Amino acid sequence: MRTRLSVAALAAVSLITMASLAAAQQPITIRAGIVLDGKGGVQRNAVIAVDGTRIVKIGDGTAETATYDFPRLTVMPGMIDAHVHIGAHFGKDGRAVTPGETPAEAALYGAANAYAMLMAGFTTVQSIGAASDVPLRDAISHGLIPGPRLLTAVTPLTDTSLTLDQVRAHIRKAVADGADVIKIFASKSIRDGGGQTLSDEQINAACGEAKALGRRVWVHAHAASAVRAAALAGCTTVTHGSQITDAEADLMAKRGTYFEPQTGLLLQNYIENKPRYMGIGNYNEAGFKFMEDGIPLNDAMFKMAIKHKDLKINMGTDAVAGSHGRNANEVVHRVKVDGQGAMDAIVAVTSLNAEAMGLGGLVGTLAPGMEADLIAVDGDPTTDITALQRVVFVMKGGKVYRNVAAGR
Ligand SMILES: [Zn+2]
Repeated sequence: MRTRLSVAALAAVSLITMASLAAAQQPITIRAGIVLDGKGGVQRNAVIAVDGTRIVKIGDGTAETATYDFPRLTVMPGMIDAHVHIGAHFGKDGRAVTPGETPAEAALYGAANAYAMLMAGFTTVQSIGAASDVPLRDAISHGLIPGPRLLTAVTPLTDTSLTLDQVRAHIRKAVADGADVIKIFASKSIRDGGGQTLSDEQINAACGEAKALGRRVWVHAHAASAVRAAALAGCTTVTHGSQITDAEADLMAKRGTYFEPQTGLLLQNYIENKPRYMGIGNYNEAGFKFMEDGIPLNDAMFKMAIKHKDLKINMGTDAVAGSHGRNANEVVHRVKVDGQGAMDAIVAVTSLNAEAMGLGGLVGTLAPGMEADLIAVDGDPTTDITALQRVVFVMKGGKVYRNVAAGR
């Protein structure tokens, strides 16, 4: 009796296995009322066919039956955040410093941030960066834990006392340690006024060495002089840029430098969580004053920047503790408060970000041959950008990680 049951059970298991194998070989189809391709294109009532990890076809959805049918939703590429700090978190006492925390505890917080961002529709993020990003990146890419595709800068360059040779050696070491991208701090924190720190020569050396090694460089710069030096040095992206004028916007546009300002989440998050940060380093009353004053200044700067139509403004939130999973707030703020066109903001968080991160041929666009990283949002973000905060379906590499679309 026992043996017969086991055989039956085994047979059932192998039938299920065969059935799921057969199912896996059938393309999955997703039909949506609106499909945005991430490059500005809009299709109504379209169906996307996914085979394995890739999109194989996007066509008219009229006559089709679909695996996932979202007539009232918008399907678009999975969002991309080009600037997060994936390991940053509040500790057991709720504070932004975590003395006595074990590496295992820290690793779990990183995994939680990764999950929060994936559930919020971010299927690729770039962490700028920490050594602990590397095992997290690898665990996600090996399918051990759920999270966005993760790129990391591993070890940012901050030391202004380095000789030019030492700057180059730092870049080589970061690459040897697994850096996908290089991060350099060319100015002070905005809490300390944002003045230039690295010399023009150091910025040149860093970006030159990174380029020689096939790596992109994200440059933290508030002061106009530091932004200018980064653009002239051929660095990939200037992040922050709070003190730029028309002249630096023009220069970045001319040099093809990506510009990644923050207006909607970074400073607001610090202020909302003031007691958790207060008293740590430059998180003092003067630092918070700089940040409170910084919000309207950043809005004014962004409004100026979007007038430069040839300037490539990508989307990076600089997400720190308290921000992960709220990344879309930056996009919503850019549209609702700063007046950016909704489609421009959507392109920035999808295809333009992919391009800035060297992933333009892989993600950020819905088209045959691209990785099947796609999300469904409740509403039409081209007319109501807050739809990006209502992500109800997440697929990454052809695998569904979230589906709460029922009844929408
Ligand atoms: Zn940052």
